[in-house]
Amino acid sequence: MDSQQNSSSLFFDRDRHVLFLQMMYQLLPPEYQGQDINRLTLAYFAISGLQVLGALDRVDKEGIASWVLSFQSFPSNKDEPNEGQFYGFHGSRSSQFPAGESGVLIHNSSHLASTYCALAILKIVGFNFSHIDSETILTSMKNLQQPDGSFMPIHTGAEKDLRFIYCAAAICFMLDNWSGMDREKAKEYIVNCQSYDGGFGLIPGSESHGGATYCAVASLRLMGFIEDDLLSKSAPSSIINVPLLLDWSLQRQAVDGGFQGRPNKSSDTCYAFWIGGVLRILGGFKFIDKNALRRFLLTCQSKYGGFGKFPRQLPDLYHSFYGYSAFSLLEEPGLNPFCVELGITDIAAIGI
Ligand SMILES: [Zn+2]
Repeated sequence: MDSQQNSSSLFFDRDRHVLFLQMMYQLLPPEYQGQDINRLTLAYFAISGLQVLGALDRVDKEGIASWVLSFQSFPSNKDEPNEGQFYGFHGSRSSQFPAGESGVLIHNSSHLASTYCALAILKIVGFNFSHIDSETILTSMKNLQQPDGSFMPIHTGAEKDLRFIYCAAAICFMLDNWSGMDREKAKEYIVNCQSYDGGFGLIPGSESHGGATYCAVASLRLMGFIEDDLLSKSAPSSIINVPLLLDWSLQRQAVDGGFQGRPNKSSDTCYAFWIGGVLRILGGFKFIDKNALRRFLLTCQSKYGGFGKFPRQLPDLYHSFYGYSAFSLLEEPGLNPFCVELGITDIAAIGI
């Protein structure tokens, strides 16, 4: 191990992380070409990450807002929206096509995850939400909810699971309007995803998983079905089994100090946020070994800035963002507090 690598693993190198994200914000490396369809998601990691690091002054907020808004799709005729379509945000230009000769938007690829990321970015840059046509988004979003309460991400179909319930809940929360989903049905679906061991699987009956567990708990919190700091509340009655969930979550901290997504898996940077975030919402974050988690995360910190998935791996945007978010949960000085259930900083969530 060279001396630079050694010194970079001793402390959270905020300045280097800011430079790393600035570089990603200006020009994505060619390795991300295959992810062009997720451009808004990549932008969300970079821009939200800069705000966690307290460096949002490095970006052009107005320019970002108009760039994001250019991905929104609308029905060609507002009075007669096309049956079954979802009018949200496209992930990138490569999924955006002009309307056909009849004026009908044939290739409408609005996606729930891109729509979540678009609104999150707009919140971060302080865009005035009264200027967003939320009615079109919400009315058409109802088309995506299934009879069992789950959501598909795009009107042409695809997997239906907890991830897209989370996106839908966060979209409604940010637009401050719940007309886009049937909350009761979504709640029922989520409750059915809790496994015998206390964690949540992506669909009912599937294995518990850190990401799915975050989606379940954060959605219930956003929808108002569970309270913040649940463990400190005197009434133990809850729609989910909280003691079992707490137990499963705490057991995900491995001997190396990091968090794993499932039993017998290696610790991975992002689960420090997915599971750490669940514990924060429950009020159980205080029970983890914070110093050990910090030490593990620092072994995943790159000397070039950013975080890798595993110790001493090259950094990527996804793991970098969740590394910063985890350090925010650990109250690293200089970082902005994070609104776990919404996936943006408290400043962005409150809208100041
Ligand atoms: Zn990961």
